[in-house]
Amino acid sequence: MASETKVTYATLSADDAEMHREFDGAIAMVRRELGRTTPLYIGAGTRTAATTTTSTNPADTRVVVANVAAGTVEDVNDAVAAARQAFPAWRAKPWTERAAILGKAAAEVRRRRYELSAWLIFEMGKNRLEALGEVEELADLIDYYVDQMRDNDGYLRPMASLGPQDTNTSVLRPFGVWGVIAPWNFPYALLGAPIAAALITGNTVVAKPSSDTPLSGVLTAEIFRNAGLPPGVLNLLTGSGRVVGKALVEHPELDGITFTGSYEVGFRDLYQAFAVRYPKPCIVEMGGKNPAIVMDSADLERAVTGVFRSAFGMNGHKCSACSRVYVHRAVADEFLERLIKRTEEARIGDPLERGVFLGPLATASSLADYEKYVALARASGVIRTGGQRAAGAGLDHGHFVKPTIVTGLPHDHELMRQELFVPILAIQPVGDFEEAMVRANDTDFGLTAGIFTGKKAEIDGFLERIEAGVVYVNRAAGATTGAWPGVQPFGGWKASGSSGKNIGGLYTLPTYLREQSRTVVA
Ligand code: NAD
Repeated sequence: MASETKVTYATLSADDAEMHREFDGAIAMVRRELGRTTPLYIGAGTRTAATTTTSTNPADTRVVVANVAAGTVEDVNDAVAAARQAFPAWRAKPWTERAAILGKAAAEVRRRRYELSAWLIFEMGKNRLEALGEVEELADLIDYYVDQMRDNDGYLRPMASLGPQDTNTSVLRPFGVWGVIAPWNFPYALLGAPIAAALITGNTVVAKPSSDTPLSGVLTAEIFRNAGLPPGVLNLLTGSGRVVGKALVEHPELDGITFTGSYEVGFRDLYQAFAVRYPKPCIVEMGGKNPAIVMDSADLERAVTGVFRSAFGMNGHKCSACSRVYVHRAVADEFLERLIKRTEEARIGDPLERGVFLGPLATASSLADYEKYVALARASGVIRTGGQRAAGAGLDHGHFVKPTIVTGLPHDHELMRQELFVPILAIQPVGDFEEAMVRANDTDFGLTAGIFTGKKAEIDGFLERIEAGVVYVNRAAGATTGAWPGVQPFGGWKASGSSGKNIGGLYTLPTYLREQSRTVVA
């Protein structure tokens, strides 16, 4: 019997024996298929590339997960041309037909969830629950966008009229060819969700996964294409950001783009560069420097659990990861002591194994970042736990590190200001709620934030004043992390995002559409 457990990012534990049995089977199957070679997906078919790169397992970098095609500028040109050619017919299709195809894709993602999760663990190193959560999220995101289209009647609305002979309509229509560029930390969800949003609204797509997680991108594209998309509607190019990503961004025939990734690339290389000749929609979802506030009236058990999960879950590789805690002086020592204990108990190991909480850092550059930031933390603050690589049986060939807590950093220290994206958490004591709020908001970023308090006035004050797109109060499942489509729409303010509308939410689809106001006189 298939497991009934649905894992989300708010799942605290799942000791479902059937689920783990299915995982074991999927891992064994994927292990037999490691090292497959993947092509580019352009137009109706696939194309073998002259050059390939390897995608390796961060838990054991000797293991090749896949040999992946390296796309070129010419491939980008061909993929955009294929998407352009496919656009008029795809746009003209009733949205219900597009919805039926996407619904099939979501069902297929669910059906293959253990296999997809296993590939993800091999390629990116997240643990079983995180991997399964992401696969479930992708399926839910696709379904949610289909539901949004349905709930809004395809975004076609009758309007008022100034005379008896006028029929007036507002209709939201697709832009054309949409680019999707994704990061490595949620390689299924953050590639597949913008693809689904663009497709359900009638755009055609050229997508590029991160070069650190290309196979996840290939599997996502195969599922969408095999669900029945006409040729050219979805094209997928693996390859580097500097070649494929740049060529896509600079392509004059691209009508809109969704980028999820770092502020540095998203703002400088995309947002500022994307428009030529006239403005074009450029949705950039970027990083965070997400604070949690712990007040003296907080339930400390909840605060410790929520902060631990958000700071160190998936090794801090979440844009929503908690990286700063402002804790009231009256409870600071007790909070810190309990958090350190919880952190030191976390099981580090091969993420393929049941019960491992922390796998390896996902990329070699994350490991270099961790070592650089730890040195900076040691120089200007006090490392209370962690600060070194994790050693032990089975850890010698992977990027394993210890989750790290640092205190005593000056407020304006670079570690307090820039996104780290590795498991390093800074904790600062504060005197009162006011000081905590001022510090929490003193950042260019505005993605997520959390508070733990027993006082209603502080909850109200936090919700009114915090500058972030996703906020949580007293949440043990994650102080700043763990949003779910249709539940907590996810997006950032300020340097964290450009559209002011969140993904997986009520207003996502209109960001992929442009309005046409139609008056027909009888
Ligand atoms: P990144 O910016 O390095 O890369 C993102 C994507 O852009 C990759 O596919 C990369 O190949 C491509 N790219 C790189 N240079 C490019 C260029 N010049 N032109 C076009 N494309 C280019 O980010 P990353 O390291 O893959 O991901 C981590 C970042 O993503 C973190 O900052 C994290 O906070 C952010 N993120 C944000 C969200 C969100 O929803 N706001 C979600 C997940 C991750």
